[in-house]
Amino acid sequence: MNEPKNPSEIAREALKRLAVRHMAPTPANFQACYNEIANLPNVAPFPDQQLRQLALELKARNEAQEKALGELDAAIGRRTWSGVQEAFLDFVAAGEKSNSRAGDPAVVLPVLPAELATKLARFVECILPALGDENERVTATAADFLQALRQPSVEIPVVQGKLALMTHQVLFAAEEQVEIKESLLNLLHLIIENIGELSLDDHWLKGQIDGLLVAVAPPLTLRHLDEMERRLRDVLVKQHEAKTRSIEVQEEMRQMLAAFIERLSTMNASSESFQGKIEESARQIEKVERIEELAPLLKDVIVATRSMAEESARSREQLRSLQDKVLSTEAELAHLHRELDSASALARHDPLTDALNRKGLDEALAREIASMRRKETPLSVCLLDIDNFKKLNDRLGHEAGDNALIHLANVARRCMRPTDTLARYGGEEFIILMPDTQLEQGIDAMVRLQRELTRAFFLSGKDKVLITFSAGVALLQQDESGADAIKRADQAMYLAKRAGKNRVMGA
Ligand code: GH3
Ligand code: MG
Ligand code: MG
Repeated sequence: MNEPKNPSEIAREALKRLAVRHMAPTPANFQACYNEIANLPNVAPFPDQQLRQLALELKARNEAQEKALGELDAAIGRRTWSGVQEAFLDFVAAGEKSNSRAGDPAVVLPVLPAELATKLARFVECILPALGDENERVTATAADFLQALRQPSVEIPVVQGKLALMTHQVLFAAEEQVEIKESLLNLLHLIIENIGELSLDDHWLKGQIDGLLVAVAPPLTLRHLDEMERRLRDVLVKQHEAKTRSIEVQEEMRQMLAAFIERLSTMNASSESFQGKIEESARQIEKVERIEELAPLLKDVIVATRSMAEESARSREQLRSLQDKVLSTEAELAHLHRELDSASALARHDPLTDALNRKGLDEALAREIASMRRKETPLSVCLLDIDNFKKLNDRLGHEAGDNALIHLANVARRCMRPTDTLARYGGEEFIILMPDTQLEQGIDAMVRLQRELTRAFFLSGKDKVLITFSAGVALLQQDESGADAIKRADQAMYLAKRAGKNRVMGA
């Protein structure tokens, strides 16, 4: 141990230590070194140990914070408060930057490419109508998102945040739309059943209603809804006509009945008065003593009889005209009935197979062509004709022939995709429209239907009857009309017949 030093020696030594330790020559540091050398208690020592402990607790999350910790360490070693303070401030600032880099103009965040922002905005605009406009929250979120996307440049983290919120709300709104759709469908079912109840006595209407109920069954596609709308419109028009006419006919019948009853009662009244007159005359005749008294009495009887006869003739005449009227009303009713029957021709469905009829096909074709041109997708048109159908009719009868047509339509419907359309083009000719289908796929689909027909054979009584068909498939060309495509399919079908039937040819 060295000898105790005098204060000036201690001061010199303290200055040396300050330099060796690279400590700032502050009064506090000088005092600390001085006290250390003089073995005096340190009154306000620099809290380097506590500071180092604190520094250990701090975990750097980025390079800048790492650097700040290094500076802190050096500052503690130099025992400089200002250095410590600066290092702490640097550390905190570097932490804030990584928490919210967006707020710092010095940090450049990645920006969403403009093209993607436009597409995203377009996407949001497109899905918005599907979510209904009654959901204010999703509308507001979408508006906010769209506004951000339309900025000249929008940072990706901002888009991510808004997209997440939008996704959440869209999910919610979409679920709501599904529920709304289900409730509407239920309601529609109820209405259709109700219409059916009201018109059960009409055969044609009943058929349409059954078709409607099938059309409302899920899966609900736009095509389904479209068919439903057309059927419902047919039903409503026909129902209205039938109702108006039957009210009129009912009123005519009521009037005739009233006239008839009136006639009956006057006939009754006149025959009663005739009876009274005859009885009176008979009593008078009994009392007659002289022949000349008889003459006026007989005259009364003759007058009464004649008027009775006239009355009867008049009644007969009136009754005959009433009868004529009843007959003509009956004829009119029968006519009305026939009109209602032929109304099915106005409808879009073939009553036998329930496939679309020509009118329905025309509409469906126009719709499909418009849709394919809009979406730029292919459309295949197939025409099929049953092979040797005349023979089938001759062998098993016309009714079996009808049932074979129904069978073919059912098997076709089962095989087809929900987006395909089946129409009866003529007697035993059908057309199948296949949207979004290339020629090869269309031909494959028809071959599959042929195979299915050999499996699900048609039963006529106990006889298993194999139905085959020949088909032609045409891919609708750009600017080609539906009729022309059908014509090409028909030519290909004819070639299939020529080649031996039971085959499919592409046009
Ligand atoms: P191919 O193989 O060449 O087509 O011969 P096919 O006998 O099928 O053709 P064809 O055109 O000579 O005869 C079609 C027959 O289909 C004639 C007609 O009596 C019958 N037919 C048309 N419509 C109906 C219908 O609604 N019901 C029934 N049962 N037969 C029908
Ligand atoms: Mg034919
Ligand atoms: Mg045929």
